[in-house]
Amino acid sequence: MISFFPDVYPDELAYSWFARYGVRSGYTHYRAIADDLFISHTAKPNLEFIIELSQDAYCAVTHIMPFERFILNHTMFPYYARFLPVERRQKAFEHLLNMDKRFNDSLHIRRNKTQHRQWLRYCPLCAEADRERYGETYWHRLHQLDHIDVCPVHGCYLHDSSVSITSKDSPSLVHAETIIPVCSAAENCSNNIELEIAKYVSQVFSADLQIDNPTKVGTFMHSKMENTKYLSARGKTRLLAPLTNDFNKLYFALPNVTMSEQWQIEKIFSNHRCHTYDICLLAFFLGVPTAELVAMRLPEKTQTQLFDEKIIELHNLGFNYRQISIQMGASYDYCKLVGNRQRRKLGRELSQP
Ligand SMILES: [Zn+2]
Repeated sequence: MISFFPDVYPDELAYSWFARYGVRSGYTHYRAIADDLFISHTAKPNLEFIIELSQDAYCAVTHIMPFERFILNHTMFPYYARFLPVERRQKAFEHLLNMDKRFNDSLHIRRNKTQHRQWLRYCPLCAEADRERYGETYWHRLHQLDHIDVCPVHGCYLHDSSVSITSKDSPSLVHAETIIPVCSAAENCSNNIELEIAKYVSQVFSADLQIDNPTKVGTFMHSKMENTKYLSARGKTRLLAPLTNDFNKLYFALPNVTMSEQWQIEKIFSNHRCHTYDICLLAFFLGVPTAELVAMRLPEKTQTQLFDEKIIELHNLGFNYRQISIQMGASYDYCKLVGNRQRRKLGRELSQP
C-alpha cells in the first residue's frame, strides 16, 4: 500500500524517483520496494524507461501528473523517438503508455555494440546545486544522453557512477544521493565543438515532443539544404561528397562522431537513421535552429518546384529554351521538358468542362 509519494524533481529519471520512494519508505530490501511499485518484484527496473507498475504505483504517479507527461518528461523516450517515422513513434508511445515492453521493438534502440555509455552518470556541479536546493541530489535525464559527455548547464565533464546500465546483477534501485560523492572535482571541457553539441542536443531533447508530427526527418533535412552548395541547382540531387567532406572538417575534434562516411549520412535522408544524436550532428552542421528542428515543417514549395516555375516564367516572357538553359544552369532538354509539361497541363485544364 502506497500512502505517500515524493515530489518529482525537474528532468528526473523515473528510476531515480522510484529509488527515492524506496529510501523515504524506509525499505532496506529491493523486494519490499518492488512489491509496492512493480507488478513483478523480481524484475529488473529499467534505468531509461519503465517496467510495468503496480496499480498502486500507477495511481500514485497519475495523481501527481498525467501518465503521458510522466513518459515524456521522466524517461529517455524523447531521445530515441523524436525523429522516428510517425507510425513507429506513435506505436512506441502507445506501448509505453500501456507499460508494454514491446516499446523496445518500436524504438529499435541501439544497444550493446554501439551504446557508448555503460553507467548512470552525474555532473558534480549539478549534484552540488541539487543538494543546496533540495537537500539531496538525483539522477538527471540530461546526464544520460548517449554520446554526450559534458553537462550542458555547467560545461564540465560528466562522471560515471557505479550504477551499471547494462549489468546483469540482481535488480536494485539506487538513490543518487547515496552514492554520488559530496565533494567531487569538476573538470571543465575546453573543446568548443563538444560543448556546442552538448548544448544543442540537450535543447532538442528537452523541447516538447510532437508525437503526431508526420514530417519525415529525411525530407526535412533535404529541405534544409535547399539553395546551398549541397544540392543541385534544381534542388533534386544531393551532393553528398562535398557535404561529407565539410561535415568531417567541422567535427574533426569532436570525440563522439557517429557518422563519418557518406553512406551513413545518406541513411538520414532515406529515413533509416533516426537517432536524435545523429540528426543533431547533421542539423547543427546545416545551421538549423533547434526551434525549427523540434517542430519540423516543410516549406510550401520545394526548390525544385520554384526552379520549374522560374523556367515557365522565363518562357512566358519570351525567352527560348536555349537562353533559359544558360540562365538557369539546367540542360536544354530539361527546360523543354518542363515547358512541354506545363503546356500539356494547361491543355488539359482548358479541355475540361
Ligand atoms: Zn551540471
